[in-house]
Amino acid sequence: RHNPKGDTNFLEDESTKNFARKVADHYSARTNQTLEEREASPIIHLKKLNNWIKSVLIQLYAHRGDAVLDIACGKGGDLIKWDKAKIGYYVGIDIAEGSIEDCRTRYNGDADHHQRRKKFAFPARLICGDCYEVRLDKVLADDAPFDIISCQFALHYSWSTEARARRALANVSALLRPGGTFIGTMPDANVIMKKVRQAEGLAFGNSVYWIRFDEEFSEKKFRSSCPFGIKYKFHLEDAVDCPEWIVPFHVFKLLAEEYDLDLVFVKNSHEFVHEYLKKPEYVELMRRLGALGDGNQDQSTLSQDEWEVAYLYLAFVLKKRGQPDRT
Ligand code: SAM
Repeated sequence: RHNPKGDTNFLEDESTKNFARKVADHYSARTNQTLEEREASPIIHLKKLNNWIKSVLIQLYAHRGDAVLDIACGKGGDLIKWDKAKIGYYVGIDIAEGSIEDCRTRYNGDADHHQRRKKFAFPARLICGDCYEVRLDKVLADDAPFDIISCQFALHYSWSTEARARRALANVSALLRPGGTFIGTMPDANVIMKKVRQAEGLAFGNSVYWIRFDEEFSEKKFRSSCPFGIKYKFHLEDAVDCPEWIVPFHVFKLLAEEYDLDLVFVKNSHEFVHEYLKKPEYVELMRRLGALGDGNQDQSTLSQDEWEVAYLYLAFVLKKRGQPDRT
């Protein structure tokens, strides 16, 4: 196991912490939008498409009465999706204090600007913490085991160091019951690497996003046995502006296996959309969410640039080794 201890480690730890803080501050500072602001967003259809992908994952794997852990839950944007799946218990953790506050407000039902709705049917515990640093099995000893763990658009923040990537997977493994499911979405490193290879310099993007790698970026590290800490800056209009890290999926899969988590499937978002749009119930869900609009007016559908951003992500499902699913 590569886990260097030495003089330089202290500095590494300090800068790792600084980056984690940068990410937390970025998300904390993002305030809730009004419905009008949200609809005016240049990436509104991308947001809706991502909500559709998360909804499909939840509908595919959640069962009535499940205990759910939402790692990096953000402002609780998935609470309604879990409610529709009739789960029994929810724990959400996020490093950003501001997001957890918004999540709490949303859960409590007051000032939910998106939708006036009845209270959620499941009890919930919402915690602020660094899921890639803290031993969550200690924090959540009384809540575990979970039937399903979800980490949406956030696992890549654990790949700043090997120790954090391992902590993330160790936490999932320790808290998931045997046969339980780990679902998630994160950037597709193969797509990002392909794009940087084709780019003029170390940056690329379109009207709604850009990605810029550091000067010290090397493809060698991506191909090495220790591909952690490959940092880039990600900017997505009206959503993200912070440091992120490449997660080579083949290494992620092998590392997950060390923690008794076996791959069920991995699909790039484009492939995911094509596959699940063959099923009428998910076409109907897409229509309800308004992700692709009605196709009659240009502005009511996903733009080409938003579709390109969707291509930067993948969806994965892992299963904890052990007893099969409950029937
Ligand atoms: N999962 C939510 C969703 O799908 O709407 C939020 C996704 S947002 C793109 C990424 C989230 O990861 C942010 O809320 C951020 O605060 C959280 N995050 C980043 N690093 C984290 C860490 N070390 N521990 C817990 N949460 C973290």
